[in-house]
Amino acid sequence: MKKKYLLTPGPTPLPPEVMSALSRPIIHHRTAEYGEVFGEVNKGLKYLFQTAEDVFMFASSGTGAMEASVVNLLSPKDKVIAVEAGKFGERWLELCNTFGLDVIPVHVQWGKSVAPSLIEKLLKENPTTKAVFVTLCETSTGVTTDVKAIAAVTAKTNAVVVVDAISGLGAMELKTDEWGVDVVVSGSQKGMMLPPGLGFISLSKKAQKMMETSKLPKYYFNLKAYKKALEKLDTPYTPAIGLTVALKEALKLLQDEGLENVLKRHAVMAEATRQAVKALGLEVFASPSSDTVTAVKLPEGMDGGKLYKTMKNDLGVQAADGQGNLKGKILRFAHLGYMDASDVILGISALEVALWKIGYPVKMGEGVKAAQKVLYQV
Ligand SMILES: *Cc1c(COP(=O)(O)O)cnc(C)c1O
Repeated sequence: MKKKYLLTPGPTPLPPEVMSALSRPIIHHRTAEYGEVFGEVNKGLKYLFQTAEDVFMFASSGTGAMEASVVNLLSPKDKVIAVEAGKFGERWLELCNTFGLDVIPVHVQWGKSVAPSLIEKLLKENPTTKAVFVTLCETSTGVTTDVKAIAAVTAKTNAVVVVDAISGLGAMELKTDEWGVDVVVSGSQKGMMLPPGLGFISLSKKAQKMMETSKLPKYYFNLKAYKKALEKLDTPYTPAIGLTVALKEALKLLQDEGLENVLKRHAVMAEATRQAVKALGLEVFASPSSDTVTAVKLPEGMDGGKLYKTMKNDLGVQAADGQGNLKGKILRFAHLGYMDASDVILGISALEVALWKIGYPVKMGEGVKAAQKVLYQV
């Protein structure tokens, strides 16, 4: 027997309630039955996104929602600021370039996060800027962005702030309305505890106004069609019915636990992971490190690929390797979605055993002990 454990920052494990909902017979979407599910889901999404505005849903991965934010807000040659502090910030740059925007790229050293004062300075120097693109949790490095401070800066300008919260939502605080965050995009396979296949977007009044004048081409992602349909509790195209039915269950789990407790659970898991890493004499790669994913900086000369494979193949525990030029140099542990204290212990224990197996002088049990201290106050 070979049991497998998934500790990656997307996809994340599925709760039994979600799995059982996914196995139900398909229903038709133009029915009262689906309307009831859709209505519940819309309410739950507003709770999770912490907004009074509508949250729109696409049958796409998270990147589709990122694209939707670009094409619904902007027009060709519009000036935008896009922050790149890792693989997913790079995606903002690529998207903005693809659609012919006048992009001011902000390159941040991977593992670090952008200073809100730099955004403030750039907005002052470029008063025609229409949008600022940032990433709440840069999953490729584990770093978190001070979205609250950046939103406070953009609020004073004509620009909107667009936040990629694909991995951050439901794991880290994001007070959409209260902080004045204009656009939040997310995806289903991370903190939302679902399989991949749903993309989400919420828009502030300021962003909705920008939608009125946007001239970039769009068809499937044209939010005006979704807005019109939503008024009749409908969707313009066939929704991902099965995933939406499961989403209702996932949102119920999040609401029953309470968002505040959900975030606290993630914060404790992340802190335990960071303490364990330090106890093993290793370093956390990112600063400030997110509560979504912890990237462990591997010692110079260590074969990171071998460590990753040993954990996955010998121990059945799948963490995430580094992406891009971080491949083999970091190992990422998610504490995201349907995970709890025991998942952290499992991950750290597997890390210790794998380090020992590849010949690293590890003090066996020290990481687990440090994690237990945080998780259980022992
Ligand atoms: C996973 C992830 C994405 C990509 O989402 P897809 O669902 O793969 O399209 C984008 N941004 C961040 C921060 C992510 O973690």
